[in-house]
Amino acid sequence: MKVVVLAGGVGGAKLADGIARILPPEDVTIIVNTGDDFEHAGLTICPDLDTVMYRLAGVANDETGWGRTGETWRTISEVTALGGPDWFRLGDLDLATHLTRTHLLKQGETLTAVTHHLCAQLGIDVTVLPMSNQPAPTQIQSGDTVYPFQTWFVQERWQPPVKEVVLPEDVRATQAVIRAFETADLVFIAPSNPFVSIDPILNVYPIRALMMDLPQAIIAVSPIVGGQAVKGPAAKMMQELGLPPTSRTIADYYNELIDGFVYDVQDAGSCDDLGIETRCLNTMMHNEADRIRLAKEVMQFAEALLTLN
Ligand code: GDP
Repeated sequence: MKVVVLAGGVGGAKLADGIARILPPEDVTIIVNTGDDFEHAGLTICPDLDTVMYRLAGVANDETGWGRTGETWRTISEVTALGGPDWFRLGDLDLATHLTRTHLLKQGETLTAVTHHLCAQLGIDVTVLPMSNQPAPTQIQSGDTVYPFQTWFVQERWQPPVKEVVLPEDVRATQAVIRAFETADLVFIAPSNPFVSIDPILNVYPIRALMMDLPQAIIAVSPIVGGQAVKGPAAKMMQELGLPPTSRTIADYYNELIDGFVYDVQDAGSCDDLGIETRCLNTMMHNEADRIRLAKEVMQFAEALLTLN
């Protein structure tokens, strides 16, 4: 069974890791949001790709959910001392990833090839693909101001209220991404932020159309638990966009795309009458055992759905 997982960073990486640990590596492709990518101090930084890679390689920082475990901060401290750009905290180990990626991109490699290289070096055996090789910057409109994503997210600590998430036009998927959808039996939409992690992927031509047509089943897992985001701005954004911050809203948001929906036991009963198949599960992934447990449960749900279809 060929499985594609659509993922942002923190929530996406956790489910992707669970799936990667229970299926043969050749059956797993993780398609990652690159809308958060940016240039900083001359480096190309791909936060969601890095979070996914570090998680899959077993070197992720469990406390923050992003960055590397055992990280040190000597370089960025010295950048501060020198009056350099220090608002985006780059750890010493993490810097090695950005230096290597930037170097290879400057040599003319595609982001897909660079990601493949980094994954191989980190000992990752599933396929990790950026959603596109083209830059696809997400922007956040707040009032009359349009922020580049990382300026809003990190520098402004996601406080300016969101009026609109602005996604670029004419971004195209790579052949590798298209092939992954064409051969997929199943697509999981990970418990990632729908507006700034999943929508940027769906916005890449022709991903949304491929998802409507091709895979036999698409299952989304809710990132909202008990009316709150486990981490980050998803619930706050929903309120600001005029959407109640509930799992049910997430299911409605993905609506015509999905055949199945997984939501948390804390929200039991709230999605019973959706008109699609649902599973109410413990979706909190605090550790590796949780990630594997949830991955097994969503796979069982998927297998049941595929026999129904
Ligand atoms: P980002 O790009 O780093 O913000 O990462 P994502 O968009 O992939 O993940 C952020 C979302 O993951 C947030 O909306 C969280 O609520 C959700 N999330 C994080 N951990 C968990 C978890 O253990 N379970 C569930 N259900 N959602 C989670």
